[in-house]
Amino acid sequence: MGLRLNILSKATDVLLDILFPRICFGCGREGKYVCDKCEIFLIEVENNIPGLVSVWEYEGLMEKLIWKIKFDRKYHILEELVEKALHRIELSLPESAYITYVPMRKNREKERGFNQAALIARRLGQLLPRRKQQPFRVLPMLKKVIDNRSQVGLNPKERIENVRDAFAFEGLFVPENVLLVDDVYTTGATAKECVRVLKKAGVKKVWIFTLARKLQC
Ligand SMILES: [Zn+2]
Repeated sequence: MGLRLNILSKATDVLLDILFPRICFGCGREGKYVCDKCEIFLIEVENNIPGLVSVWEYEGLMEKLIWKIKFDRKYHILEELVEKALHRIELSLPESAYITYVPMRKNREKERGFNQAALIARRLGQLLPRRKQQPFRVLPMLKKVIDNRSQVGLNPKERIENVRDAFAFEGLFVPENVLLVDDVYTTGATAKECVRVLKKAGVKKVWIFTLARKLQC
């Protein structure tokens, strides 16, 4: 069943590529969302916060890509970005780790049709190397319980206030190690609040992974 689904989804991907060829968002060349030449416009970010792994700076082409994903429904870009990310960074998790993601409010996710953090998490789960054969499991563990306003435009202090108690643990069990995934890390207010809730539920160690990180000026 899994294999058949896999073949079916591969066939769908091939068909989609024929019907809607991937166009580079840097230069317009056909083939990839970010062609090999334009990859230099994705700037790698220094990982200097313990427990946080981010791949690229949230600016220029990366900012454009994230916008296209979220507001122009080009979520297939994420798969390509996660593949590129794993060529750039080393992310080794304990074998016992589970992957989860920052949740969206249910009605917002319904409107958008997807949660980009969940899509990144799923792709990571498939691609992260593991000694055992099975991929890392991706599970929902958090739910959004407060319909807070967007963090955009808020200062660091307001961001902390805005997400306080916005999440609740809803995992079926409490894993020892968790990788929490999101698309962009800005001040870290959202991710830290999620980590706090996971740890309060009993998770021992939480790492954070984001594709992009917005450096504060
Ligand atoms: Zn290009």
